[in-house]
Amino acid sequence: MLINLSKFLSSDKISLEINEEFVIDDQEFIEKTHLNNPVIFNGEFFKVEGSTILNAIVIYNYTEECARCLDKFDNKNNVKFEAVVVSNKDNDEPNDTDEIRLIYEDGCVKLDEVIKQMIYLSLPMKAVCKENCKGICPNCGVNLNFEECKCENELTDPRFNKLKDLLKD
Ligand SMILES: [Zn+2]
Ligand SMILES: [Zn+2]
Repeated sequence: MLINLSKFLSSDKISLEINEEFVIDDQEFIEKTHLNNPVIFNGEFFKVEGSTILNAIVIYNYTEECARCLDKFDNKNNVKFEAVVVSNKDNDEPNDTDEIRLIYEDGCVKLDEVIKQMIYLSLPMKAVCKENCKGICPNCGVNLNFEECKCENELTDPRFNKLKDLLKD
């Protein structure tokens, strides 16, 4: 996604708001993150003391595997970030803070890489399909959200089952 800032930067406006849907066209990234296009980008560029800052939030949907029942479900997440617009020349300066830089080139900044990076870093480590997900039975493996199993009344430690099998003979 290219954003043209030249008009804004040469005007006396202090801020520029951008609200757009944005399609990430990177198959490898989509496979890695299970992202569902499009993502929503809400951002505002500000002129502050001679530099230009972007404050943004990216809202996205992706397909997640429940950590408890292993079922696939669609999850929604968002990530906020702040970035600084720099010219190509300024970008040669060492960046020892963790500030995010957007390169201003031919009147535009390109947001694809930073949006992908933010999505990638904000993906939750573990998610459950619903708060009261019952998970799968550790003994027989049924999804307890949809089925009941008879294991509850028996010993659920699989070691005991082995023992029972042994004692049978
Ligand atoms: Zn679940
Ligand atoms: Zn069971």
